[in-house]
Amino acid sequence: MKEYSNKEQLSFDDILLVPRHSDIESRRDVMLNATIGRGTKRSIGMKIPLIAAPMDTVCEWEMAAAMRNAGGLGILHRYMPIDQQVEQVKLARDAGGTVGGSVGAVGQFAEDAAKLVYAGAELILIDIANGHSDYAIKAVKKLRQSFGRDVHIMAGNVSTAEGYTRLADAGADSIRVGIGGGSACTTRIVSGHGVPTLASIIDIRSKYEYGDGPDIIADGGIRNSGDAAKALAAGANALMVGRILAGTDESPGEVVDGRKVFRGMASREAQEAGRGTVSGVEGVSTTVEHVGSVNNIINDFSAGLRSALSYTGVDNLIDFYDESMYNRVSSNSLNETKPHAKE
Ligand code: IMP
Repeated sequence: MKEYSNKEQLSFDDILLVPRHSDIESRRDVMLNATIGRGTKRSIGMKIPLIAAPMDTVCEWEMAAAMRNAGGLGILHRYMPIDQQVEQVKLARDAGGTVGGSVGAVGQFAEDAAKLVYAGAELILIDIANGHSDYAIKAVKKLRQSFGRDVHIMAGNVSTAEGYTRLADAGADSIRVGIGGGSACTTRIVSGHGVPTLASIIDIRSKYEYGDGPDIIADGGIRNSGDAAKALAAGANALMVGRILAGTDESPGEVVDGRKVFRGMASREAQEAGRGTVSGVEGVSTTVEHVGSVNNIINDFSAGLRSALSYTGVDNLIDFYDESMYNRVSSNSLNETKPHAKE
C-alpha cells in the first residue's frame, strides 16, 4: 500500500472560515447566483446553487418543481420504471421548469436517457456509486456521442482529481464529488474507501482553476449552511443535498408521527423497493423530522450563505472562492462551535 497524499485530508469540521474586512452593507446585497455548464448551450442557471439528490426519499417531481421554483434544481431518482420517470419529467417541467433525470451506466441507459431528454429533461445524471469505474467513463462518452452538445451530462461520484480528470476527458459537464460522506452512506465502513468531501474538492481545485473543467457538485455530508459555505469556498460550483430535504412536505413519502423515512439508495430497503433485489448494501434507512415546506429550508440556507459571504466581505460566489480563507481548528474547537448555553 502506498500513501496517496501526505497532506491531512480535511473534513468540514476540521476548518473554519476566517472573517475578513467587509464593506457589504446588507446581506440583501449578496448574490448567490451560480451557473453549471457555463458557456455552453446546456448551461443551467440557479439563484441558489442547491440541488436535490436523486434519492427515492428525496426527489420526485414535486421536489424537483419546488426546488426549481425556489431557485435551485432537482434531479429525479431512477428507482422507478423509465416510463414513470418520463411522466415525472413532464410534471416537474409543467410545475417548475428545468429538471434533471437520471439513468444507470449499463443496459438500456442510453435509450432511457433519450426518452428523458425527449420528455424535456435538460440534464441527465449518470447515477452510479463509483464514478472511478470504467462503466462511468464509457457511459459519459456514449451519452456525449448521442447528445452532442445539446444536453448537460452530470457524472460521478469521484473523490480525487484523478477520477475527476477521467470523467472530464470523457465529456462530463459537471461532476459529483464525494465518496462515502453521505448521511445515509456506509461505504467507508463497508469498503474502507472514501475521501472527506471537502478534501476531494480541495484536491481537484489544486489542479483545476475555478472556471476550468466541469463544474464540481459537492455531494455528501452537507449538514447545514456552514458546511455548504465551506464547500463553496473550497471551489464547489454547486451543492447536492439529501438528508436536509428529506423531511420536507415535497419529498416522497408520508409523515408518520411527525417523521418521514430517509434512506440511502444502496440501503437494503431502497434496493428492495426500487429494484426488487438486493446486492451490496452500502446505506442505511432511518427517519427524519418533518420540517414543513422545502421553501423554509431554502430560505434558511440562503440566509446562512448570505451571512457567509458577508463575513468574507464579498457579494458573489466567484469572489467568495477567491477571497475566502480558512484555518484548521483543533477538535476542542467543536465544543465551542456548537451551542453550549444549556450545558
Ligand atoms: P446527504 O446530503 O449527506 O444526505 O448526502 C446525499 C448523497 O449521499 C447523495 O447525493 C449520494 O451521493 C449519497 N448517497 C445516497 N444514497 C447512498 C447510499 O445508499 N450509499 C452511499 N451514498 C449514498
